[in-house]
Amino acid sequence: MPCSRRQFIAIAATFASSSVLTGEARADAPMVSESDPTAQALGYRANASQVDKAKYPKFQAGQSCSSCQLFQGKAGAASGPCQIFGGKIVNSGGWCSAYTKKA
Ligand code: SF4
Repeated sequence: MPCSRRQFIAIAATFASSSVLTGEARADAPMVSESDPTAQALGYRANASQVDKAKYPKFQAGQSCSSCQLFQGKAGAASGPCQIFGGKIVNSGGWCSAYTKKA
């Protein structure tokens, strides 16, 4: 049975407000946990000062998500979406080995 115009609009609105199509995290998205498998693989730390510097020698003091090209949060925000962790948000003071300095 084809859906009615009203049903179609309701379904479209649901998708538009979800992260299913965009891959973007909503403001109420969960924080990435350091125990998340992707986070572990990339050495993500919510606090960049706790990065394992022996394991990740490319880490340099002062680097954090807030200055990473992949961070999608607003300037000055405490946290925000990251292109690596779709549907979740990272701490702006965090770091992982995918860090890429903003151009
Ligand atoms: Fe943070 Fe960048 Fe790693 Fe994302 S890719 S967690 S913004 S350092």
